[in-house]
Amino acid sequence: MEVSEKIQCPYCGQSFEITVDTSAGSHRFTTDCEVCCRPMEIAADCEPGEILSLDVQGA
Ligand SMILES: [Zn+2]
Repeated sequence: MEVSEKIQCPYCGQSFEITVDTSAGSHRFTTDCEVCCRPMEIAADCEPGEILSLDVQGA
């Protein structure tokens, strides 16, 4: 189950929306900023259908 959540880029400070697969449970993945295209690592704490927390770090 995928849930959308807004995150803030650690580089340029812009907010944008990402989609997290909550059925994967707590996991880490990388994504690129939609604005400045730099890579960041997301640590997602999930239960199926719900995002408990997202931690964003520069990769
Ligand atoms: Zn950015």
